Amino acid sequence: VDGLMQPRPLTIAHILERAEKLYAHKHVTTAGGERLTYAEVADHTRRLATALDALGVPVGARVATFAANTRRHLELYLAVPVTKRVLHSVNIRLSPEHLEYIVEHAEDDVVFVDRALLPRIWPSADRLPKVRHWVVLPDDSGTEIPEDPRVLDYDELVAGAAPFTGSFEDAFTLADENLASGLCYTSGTTGPPKGVVYSHRSTVLHCLGTLAAGFIGLCESDVVMPIVPMFHANAWGLPYGAMMTGASLVLPGPSADPTHLLRLMESERVTVAGAVPTVWTSLVPRLRDHDLGATRFLLGGGSAIAPALSETYRSAVGVPITHSWGMTEISPVGTIGGTRTQHQDGGAEQQVAVRAAQGQPLPLVNVRIVDVETGRELPRDGRAIGEVQVAGPWVAGGYFRVDGGTSFTGDGWLRTGDLATIDAEGYLRLVDRIKDLIKSGGEWISSVELETAIFSHPDVVEVAVIARPDPRWVERPAAYVVLRDGSAATAEDLLRHITPMVAKWWLPDEVVFMSALPKTGTGKLSKTALRDATRIA
Ligand code: ADP
Repeated sequence: VDGLMQPRPLTIAHILERAEKLYAHKHVTTAGGERLTYAEVADHTRRLATALDALGVPVGARVATFAANTRRHLELYLAVPVTKRVLHSVNIRLSPEHLEYIVEHAEDDVVFVDRALLPRIWPSADRLPKVRHWVVLPDDSGTEIPEDPRVLDYDELVAGAAPFTGSFEDAFTLADENLASGLCYTSGTTGPPKGVVYSHRSTVLHCLGTLAAGFIGLCESDVVMPIVPMFHANAWGLPYGAMMTGASLVLPGPSADPTHLLRLMESERVTVAGAVPTVWTSLVPRLRDHDLGATRFLLGGGSAIAPALSETYRSAVGVPITHSWGMTEISPVGTIGGTRTQHQDGGAEQQVAVRAAQGQPLPLVNVRIVDVETGRELPRDGRAIGEVQVAGPWVAGGYFRVDGGTSFTGDGWLRTGDLATIDAEGYLRLVDRIKDLIKSGGEWISSVELETAIFSHPDVVEVAVIARPDPRWVERPAAYVVLRDGSAATAEDLLRHITPMVAKWWLPDEVVFMSALPKTGTGKLSKTALRDATRIA
């Protein structure tokens, strides 16, 4: 017997039209002081939809954005998918080779680019003949705009178009909920970048996942600030989540300057913000200069949050940094950390330990760990370590126009390349990425655990531990450390500090002090770049 419920599709159009009907008065604030209501953003979106038609952008075509977190980028997040085109948000920090590869591979029809970012992408324009239009998003950078018939101005385009007055949602059938809505490429640290294609259905379900109370639980009274870029895995779903629930949005623009971010959090009374740990680390020296009393939830992901960093926020702001674990292929949120009722009576130490875990899967996400060699599922006992595999309605099942290769199991689960334990309460604790583990004398050393120990030294600002080839042990750990200004800590001090925390044979053979560590395009520590640099040195 079939259920007899209405066959209504899940679509991003609903997110837009819900915000128009229920939250028209709520605000989107962009750095620099521009404050628009959702009604105004929706009006621009409706005009942009017509403008895309006028430009002849076909249904299903990829529309690229090369832009910071701004209100105009949000309008593209809406207008492109609600008109059944595919939003391809491009990482603005890619090398020209990777950039050209993915724009070519995605066959982007139009590129929307921040004026300030033109110098990074326009030199590639002649090598990207399939891009018919380059639409410049105005800013106050004063960057020269090329005299070229392909180049258009976003504001003129939007102002010159009549708003579409019908319902976008009504144009979707049930089958359409599986249409592609977005495209993000993985970073390409292991081979060429691969395209992850989100659907309307997966995006809406992921969005509801981020709204689930007990996880991130976005709600109407929130003021949400995605510091994580809108090109980094959909800014972790925060923009769509905020609109779905009527929270205000604060978009910090191109600058990652700590004072700028802190001032914005303070003046806008931000309640929820998300960023990678390197950004949270960069704010620490100025944290106590600002009143962040409105803060309710700070989200950290992309790499492990050292407990010492989270605790710094808990004492300075009153709110720890909560782990969000996931990846581009998981839309991206898979698990959310933090304590639950069963931990409330535990001591402070136990709570810190629970908060160090990546957390429990969101509703509808299934996570398991398997033995890397045999593929057998391992027990959830908090001890067995295996590769994390994920299944769920917002988890990728393949890649855009390339074979999934070994990324998926025979039964359709995504292989994440992460190693973890899962305990009896379903908490995932990441041990390391498979490729970052250090193999010493036939035993494994977790680079993440060593980094956590070293980071707990008060003078350490950044740390990365990587393997160094060793004739006797195959590999040995080496630590690369950035100290706070004026610190006189020595390698011996750091080794003495971590000696009680790790096995003796885990102690790094070498501690190298650096002025900065290399970062990836999404602001994470780049062990690949560090390995390359140390190999050359
Ligand atoms: P990439 O880092 O390859 O650019 P993603 O941004 O999709 O691509 O990163 C996914 C990876 O980041 C995960 O597989 C995991 O190794 C790491 N990661 C993400 N979130 C966390 C977290 N909260 N703690 C530890 N590692 C994390």
